Amino acid sequence: MSAKLLKGTEIREALLAEIKQEVEAIKAAHGVVPGLVTILVGSNPASLSYVSLKIKTAHSLGFHEIQDSQPADISEAALLALLEKYKRDDTIHGILVQLPLPPHINEKKVLDAIDPDKDVDGFHPVNVGRLLIGGKEVKFPPCTPAGIQEMIRRSGVETSGAEVVVVGRSNIVGKPIANMLMQKGPGANATVTVVHTGTKNLAAHCQRADILIVAAGVPGLVKPEWIKPGACVIDVGVNRVGEKTDEKTGRQVAILRGDVDFDAAAKIAGFITPVPGGVGPMTITMLMRNTLNSLKFRLGI
Ligand code: NAD
Repeated sequence: MSAKLLKGTEIREALLAEIKQEVEAIKAAHGVVPGLVTILVGSNPASLSYVSLKIKTAHSLGFHEIQDSQPADISEAALLALLEKYKRDDTIHGILVQLPLPPHINEKKVLDAIDPDKDVDGFHPVNVGRLLIGGKEVKFPPCTPAGIQEMIRRSGVETSGAEVVVVGRSNIVGKPIANMLMQKGPGANATVTVVHTGTKNLAAHCQRADILIVAAGVPGLVKPEWIKPGACVIDVGVNRVGEKTDEKTGRQVAILRGDVDFDAAAKIAGFITPVPGGVGPMTITMLMRNTLNSLKFRLGI
């Protein structure tokens, strides 16, 4: 392997330490801490585990954190009223609704009812618009793309003038990261191509990329011969390809693979993210940063 590994697990620790320090400084100067509420409807075990991790991370940073668990049969009106309550609560700067919601609730209606100035996931149409406009308009960049941009920035790879190819055009990864990297400004200013299921010659586009970002959800889609020697390869894909027995716990755990043929690609790329332990650990970290920034916007600092 010749590529340098970009480990999200390491970058996460550095970022969390920076956030914690800033929280302490703001608390000392202004007497307030960032507040995050996660609303969980029902008891889906996967959702419960995501919410617990977010709350645990927020707690470790000194945030005011609330896990608001609601019964699976909560009415849509009651859920909307809850969002209104947190919108008015000055101790709360970030509101999350854990998906999926039960079928009797209109998910879009609920997500659209989150106060855009507390929408730390960055998925509200107002925040999508702000991201597209760019510059000082941006409040909450969506967390996975923000994590990708941070990883590229910390790798020292130059984005300005770089050819970036993004594989995938989803609203949560492909579209926002493409938009963020084409903006004029630090950590961006790249020439971006987005490829997808309608693209004719995927390999030829990927071969041009100084920075290749892959978010397709297809294990091993990107072949080593598609990678330009020395390129920075960010593999966002997380695909369950089987199960194995964990040596420590004896439990069955998922075998995860990315969208890039890692072992072969690592011989050609200059930088590469592993799966797991690459982009994955960055997402919750950037959620914490968005919540801290929400408080800073409120304080005007
Ligand atoms: P999605 O299914 O919404 O979108 C996938 C995109 O890839 C689509 O736009 C599609 O056009 C494109 N695509 C699919 N197959 C293709 C092919 N053969 N050739 C060209 N383009 C193709 O997925 P998503 O939500 O963007 O997630 C993508 C992957 O990233 C998944 O594996 C997901 O688990 C992972 N993911 C990881 C994180 C994280 O680590 N924090 C966050 C979000 C998504």
